[in-house]
Amino acid sequence: MRNKCGNGAAPITSTADYASKFCVIIDAGHGGSDGGTVSGKIIEKDINLSVALKLKTILEDNNIEVILTRNSDEKMSLAQRTSVANDSNADFFISLHCNYYEDDAQIAGLECYYNSPDATESKAYAESIIHAVSLSNDVKTRDAKTENYYVLRNTQIPAVLVEMGFLSNYSESQKLLSDDYQEILAQRMAEGIFNKIKGDENS
Ligand SMILES: [Zn+2]
Repeated sequence: MRNKCGNGAAPITSTADYASKFCVIIDAGHGGSDGGTVSGKIIEKDINLSVALKLKTILEDNNIEVILTRNSDEKMSLAQRTSVANDSNADFFISLHCNYYEDDAQIAGLECYYNSPDATESKAYAESIIHAVSLSNDVKTRDAKTENYYVLRNTQIPAVLVEMGFLSNYSESQKLLSDDYQEILAQRMAEGIFNKIKGDENS
């Protein structure tokens, strides 16, 4: 059976809260025979999964329900990933990736993509995440911008794709391997998500 938000085993006393609990799909890009971007011994799929698991822990610690599209090193099609989102009752989809730019090894920084200017909810998440990450002294950020990615185009809930940094940039690639840096990334992205949710509650 497909994971469905709100259908898990929850304590009886909190059933009402549980039914309305905010639910996030975290998609660790690539997996299995699809390594994604590779730089030396650094394989994108491993960083994506590692940060996804850290982000999951932080969100769950803050009473947000999480579904992972993959929780191990397995290959999944893009259609399978969007199916996880579309078959759930989730509120938000976030796909995690690492970038590579062969023409300029100096380029660095985290980017966040949403599908189109019309996707106002997705755009708001993307901008909130970029803002939260930009407040960190540890992480360089670039922009929130549009891109017609499959997982964004075919996900029926607000969706963003985060390129967490450039493996083509040596120093950023070394940071992306570090557990501490991955923890900072996860914490900041989580704050961006929290701020967006709080903003909605207050408006
Ligand atoms: Zn990727």
